[in-house]
Amino acid sequence: MCAGRIDLAFVLRAFSNGVDGVFIGGCRLNECNYITHGNYHALNMVLLCRKLLEHIGLNPERLRIEFMSGAEGILYTEVVNEFGRQVKALGPLGQSEGLDRGELASRLASVTKLVPYLKLVNREKLASRFSREEDYKDLFTLEEVERMLRDVISYHIDPEKCRACMICLRKCPVEAIDGGKNRIHVIDQATCIKCGTCFDACPERFGAVRKICGEPVPPPIPEAQRTIARKSKAEKSPAAV
Ligand code: SF4
Ligand code: SF4
Repeated sequence: MCAGRIDLAFVLRAFSNGVDGVFIGGCRLNECNYITHGNYHALNMVLLCRKLLEHIGLNPERLRIEFMSGAEGILYTEVVNEFGRQVKALGPLGQSEGLDRGELASRLASVTKLVPYLKLVNREKLASRFSREEDYKDLFTLEEVERMLRDVISYHIDPEKCRACMICLRKCPVEAIDGGKNRIHVIDQATCIKCGTCFDACPERFGAVRKICGEPVPPPIPEAQRTIARKSKAEKSPAAV
């Protein structure tokens, strides 16, 4: 219904499913019926996505957004036909950019996995609304996107500090945390979407979740060493026995 509903993940999924081009049509800017101005959000998302496509070696012209009213049927037809011709000239996705199917799939998957993180770190820019078109030119730069992807933040649970309270495990939106009662918790880095919820959720007195940037994440503690030996009541206060 609204262009603002189109998520970065939808566009990347379309490319992952093999489409050669994605066209997004939105209402004219500043003519949104609601205070949300979702078409600005869609525009910002497209600008970011085009840089991401460029970063992974795909032609950003494969993604286009245009704004028009529901009454401009002729304009819509012209724009879509023209985009269709352009995509045809660009050729098949990946093949035209010198990427084989496996490489294309792996590059798209690596960026798709980071969508929640990219939305989080760019939330202010994605919500921006400028009045002049030229202000959008450098909203996202390739250098910035490359830096963002190079300095991706990871989260790690310090086995020395984790008290197995299970708060992070319950709050993780993608079940990336392995743990349980009296078990040191471990983050599965392949499943983690880097949302930072565990970092915020871990009680301050434990402070077990670390934010890591620019250095490798330590390997997970072996299964056999994850059990936390708790002292019994008697051991804690022998006088009470
Ligand atoms: S950052 Fe933490 S809460 Fe978020 S997905 Fe990763 S493990 Fe789960
Ligand atoms: S919230 Fe902190 S202390 Fe509790 S299980 Fe998670 S990492 Fe461990």
